[in-house]
Amino acid sequence: MLNIVLFGPPGAGKGTQSERLIEKFGLVHLSTGDMFRMHISENTELGQKVKQIISDGLLVDDSITFAMLEFEMSKHPESKGFIFDGFPRTVSQAESLDKYLADKGLIISKVLQLDVNEDVIKERIALRQKVSGRADDGADKLIKRIDEYFSKTVHVLPYYASQNKLEKISGVGEIDVISANLFDAISAI
Ligand code: AMP
Repeated sequence: MLNIVLFGPPGAGKGTQSERLIEKFGLVHLSTGDMFRMHISENTELGQKVKQIISDGLLVDDSITFAMLEFEMSKHPESKGFIFDGFPRTVSQAESLDKYLADKGLIISKVLQLDVNEDVIKERIALRQKVSGRADDGADKLIKRIDEYFSKTVHVLPYYASQNKLEKISGVGEIDVISANLFDAISAI
């Protein structure tokens, strides 16, 4: 089973590249951001609980996030593998995921870090906001999301580096070239 974490700051291109990886390798796409947005649009109890947090650009509580992810994973027992997009965002989430997989005799195969600098991120998100209208893509919210990334999420990198699972791929340039580099990294597993 191929379990890939696609890692990177907001605007790194995780969503776009995930779509290509799912198609190429037949993996199930697990985006916690997409799951939260679905709960919000369907106005579920969970959606009501997280709406303001997400709109403020803050991270949702680890236990709420993991419970939602676990539920989604349990729907795909026959899957060839998963691509985790936007998860884990804290070391505690990474530990919960490792424990969950270990109980099933599974592991994270590789963590692919899409490397993009802050100026590029800001440019891309400004563009995306025009198209998506996402409330959390506005300038002030974006600053919060980038803060959350640099204060909490980057610590996930040394966690996976210490397991020898981390591989950095440039997230800048032609989308096709980035995809090809990701394909190569996965094919080498
Ligand atoms: P994304 O689409 O991955 O950028 O996620 C959008 C928002 O959903 C984030 O800014 C957080 O508020 C929330 N979110 C998504 N994934 C997580 C996670 N793994 N942990 C906590 N909050 C998350």
